[in-house]
Amino acid sequence: MATIPPHLTPEARAAAGVKAVTARRERAAVKAALSEGTIGIFEVINDGRESIQRMRVSELLDAAPGVGSRRTYTLMNKAGISETRRIGGLGSHQLQKLRSEMILNKVPVSPGALIVMSGPGGVGKSTITSYLRNHPAIWVSVSVTTREPRENEKDGHDYHFVTEEKFDQLIAQNNLLEWAEFAGARYGTPRDAVAKALDLGKHVLLEIEIAGARQIRKADPKALLVFISPPSWEELVDRLTSRGTDSPERRAARLALAEEEMACVHEFDEVLVNHQVEEVAAALLSLATYRSKETLK
Ligand code: 5GP
Repeated sequence: MATIPPHLTPEARAAAGVKAVTARRERAAVKAALSEGTIGIFEVINDGRESIQRMRVSELLDAAPGVGSRRTYTLMNKAGISETRRIGGLGSHQLQKLRSEMILNKVPVSPGALIVMSGPGGVGKSTITSYLRNHPAIWVSVSVTTREPRENEKDGHDYHFVTEEKFDQLIAQNNLLEWAEFAGARYGTPRDAVAKALDLGKHVLLEIEIAGARQIRKADPKALLVFISPPSWEELVDRLTSRGTDSPERRAARLALAEEEMACVHEFDEVLVNHQVEEVAAALLSLATYRSKETLK
């Protein structure tokens, strides 16, 4: 059955035209950067813009230096990707397969960066994490914890909430990349999930406290440690004491811990002052991109 095109007003038609031109321009810029070698294939795949997500995978591979149409065909065939597939429609299995085929065929692939974000409680780390969660270039690790869920927290989304016994078991089986105790509960990063995301060329974001950050530094010297700092100590105290979910004792403990955490700022590679979540998120993304390029060299 033929579809009837929606009736567009002249304004809507003009807006659609502008959108199409912008999209074409964005795609052309990305392809130019790709052929110059300024960005890599997986950076394009992880570019969240709609115009890029709608680009055909074949068009992308064809534009990459040293790939060419014959190799494009082979890579897509081996990865089980149909000729008409668009970037946004790639499944994680196809991405993984494409990546390993590219490595086998000596097409340069930049690895994702492991980014550790720490900072005192109340500084706004979880707001930054939520903001970045849906970015296609970023995979946010979901930690395991023994603490009770807060109101509005969902198991499997904010944390995997587990018993003390289960946590013991995860440590014993070496399933945690790092773990630490904080304000009376234990928190840890699941090892396999992080490895899997890095394997897909994603930047992995760990929002963890400082003892955990130190363990990551030891386990992976290439990891980038970023400290999120409040605009001022007074502002941090304000934010911590206005949180209604904690008991007075827990609040006092968090304040004391925040003071200790602020003193560790010098152990980090970068410090970002959290004036605005969008700014910090953009800075984290460019740091991650820079770090993964450095690793490629
Ligand atoms: P909250 O209980 O407020 O969610 O988190 C308390 C602290 O634990 C925060 O500083 C948070 O960054 C940290 N944290 C969350 N997950 C992990 C983890 O997997 N490992 C470590 N070491 N710290 C974590």
